[in-house]
Amino acid sequence: MLFIGVIVAAALLLIPQPQYSSAQAPVPNVPLAAPAEETTVTLAAIGDTGANTPFQRAVATQLIDYFHGQHPLDGVLHLGDIIYPEGDIERFGQSHYANHYQALWEEGVPFYLSLGNHDVLRGFRPEILAFYGMPNRYYTFQLANGTGTNKVTVDCFALDTNIYKDVDQIAWLKQALASSTADWQVVYAHHPLHSSGAHGSHKKLTALYAPIFKQYGVDVYMAGHEHDYERFNPIDGTLHVVSGGGGAYLRKFSSQHPQSAVRLRAHHFTVLQFGKQAARGQAIDKTGKVIDAFTIPHTEAIPTGV
Ligand SMILES: [Zn+2]
Repeated sequence: MLFIGVIVAAALLLIPQPQYSSAQAPVPNVPLAAPAEETTVTLAAIGDTGANTPFQRAVATQLIDYFHGQHPLDGVLHLGDIIYPEGDIERFGQSHYANHYQALWEEGVPFYLSLGNHDVLRGFRPEILAFYGMPNRYYTFQLANGTGTNKVTVDCFALDTNIYKDVDQIAWLKQALASSTADWQVVYAHHPLHSSGAHGSHKKLTALYAPIFKQYGVDVYMAGHEHDYERFNPIDGTLHVVSGGGGAYLRKFSSQHPQSAVRLRAHHFTVLQFGKQAARGQAIDKTGKVIDAFTIPHTEAIPTGV
């Protein structure tokens, strides 16, 4: 019995407890590592970075250290607000963006960006997409590793939630998700659907996009905008994670969303690791400490014609 008690106590320690403050969840400080025989696709996500603060530098340094610590990254998703205060790529492109992540680009780690509200504050300009190498305001790409039955595929869909009512974007997303045959579907953008943060949940965005996520079995939705970290219990099968602590000043939580599982006021980046059968994630703070660990549910699309 004592042995079982010890196991239960140890298991409880692994469960992150909700937090309102900068106190950190009691998760083991061991960076994600897949079993040697498992093929995985690993992504990092950062958001709200472009303030050129010591915090941005610290998070970027941890991300680079993570990569160099034998943790391969297949790509980095940027959740928007790449350059504060108003997306001035001519003045701040180097100091607020490139200087921090160049080391990863030189190692061949691609960045896949989405546009935040600050990035388009001076107006939406084609130069922005050209500067960031984005094919469009919204786009999809596939990351894959392995061969044959061991091949793992992840389809990613970057949205522009600044213009979330865009009927062309919505039609495109439905079509792109419907034709996705990958093992996993990850959608990401700047604005969260659900949030306990300073801005709160975006009800109009949720009304338009949540039914699409449910219908097409989106596994993860990543967003920023809130300068905090928040993970939710899966909502209609989709895991929602807010990861907006990439460098700008942090903000306090203003509420508690009923499905919120973990809320942390911390500068951080998030790691998502997808295997054939299972996927998991971690949030890592600016000191390299693992502040949250979670599993990602595998969600199937709702069959049509039923
Ligand atoms: Zn924002």
